[in-house]
Amino acid sequence: MRYEAPTTTKDAVTLLAKAKGPAFVLAGGSDLLVRMKGGFVEPELVVDIKRIPAMQAIKKTATGFRIGAAVPCAAMGEDAALRKTWPGVVEAANLIGSDQIQSRCTVAGNLCNASPAADSVPALVAAGAKAAIVGPKGRRTIPVEKVVSGPGKTTLGKGEVVEAITLPVPKAKTGDAYLRFIPRTEMDIAVCSAGVCMTLGKGGVIESARVVLGAVAPTVLLVAAAAQAIVGTKLDDAALAALAKACEAACAPIDDKRGTVEFRTEVAGVLAKRAAKIAYQRAGG
Ligand SMILES: Cc1cc2nc3c(=O)[nH]c(=O)nc-3n(C[C@H](O)[C@H](O)[C@H](O)COP(=O)(O)OP(=O)(O)OC[C@H]3O[C@@H](n4cnc5c(N)ncnc54)[C@H](O)[C@@H]3O)c2cc1C
Repeated sequence: MRYEAPTTTKDAVTLLAKAKGPAFVLAGGSDLLVRMKGGFVEPELVVDIKRIPAMQAIKKTATGFRIGAAVPCAAMGEDAALRKTWPGVVEAANLIGSDQIQSRCTVAGNLCNASPAADSVPALVAAGAKAAIVGPKGRRTIPVEKVVSGPGKTTLGKGEVVEAITLPVPKAKTGDAYLRFIPRTEMDIAVCSAGVCMTLGKGGVIESARVVLGAVAPTVLLVAAAAQAIVGTKLDDAALAALAKACEAACAPIDDKRGTVEFRTEVAGVLAKRAAKIAYQRAGG
């Protein structure tokens, strides 16, 4: 196996594009190394992106935040401006693993690993995050929900690397939140999860919303019907009930020892309601 640690995105892309055998980006390694040690993947080439300056920082820009693909999740929690603007995204990123994992793992890695249960992804999708991708044919930026195509599968082409995750400047009176269910208090993978982002208009009426479920389908679900159920309301009990019903209807989970179809479906609705209440409060409602 060849290990390379380039210092530019262009060099990383060239290395990956030219690789003849299996080639992997190494960010925090908290998924990749586990898979390598378990013998599930045998890379011919590993390209470490942590020495690339364009991927190392969180930047506040005129259009929002740019989170470099090598930024560890712990650094997101330490960024006061990011925490204040997108608390749901930060709380999701900071739920991943332990302190040790936090100091290595990245949200770009969480996304590109393409687990349906990835914690940061529902929150990123709810917030309208985008992935800035660089590849042999140039740059492209796509919504985060377009990156994952199925469990362990992405839409990234050969040689393509996510250079950063971007978050927009939220409209006034916007709030987001993320909740997951795990059987333990920490260090577990979500049995199901929900991310909600909403913007309020006059009198605390919800003007727009994005409701996203995790671990209840092969990819995260952006549930338009759930958002429609709460837009135009002040999140009263009837709106919350309609939200939960729409979430339950959208679920298509697997049945395994960690949660049955019925359990995951019911809890998805409950989590979406709770996350919506937190997001509403954070938006100033
Ligand atoms: C003990 C433990 C606890 C964990 N707990 C959680 C948890 O609570 N919640 C959760 O969601 N996950 C959890 N995980 C999984 C893992 O930590 C996360 O998915 C993490 O965010 C992965 O990020 P990383 O930077 O370490 O990715 P890596 O392991 O470096 O990469 C993951 C995959 O994405 C690809 N990749 C990485 N970066 C890029 C990029 N910029 N462009 C293109 N491809 C890229 C890699 O090639 C690899 O296939 C846990 C793992 C461990 C070992």
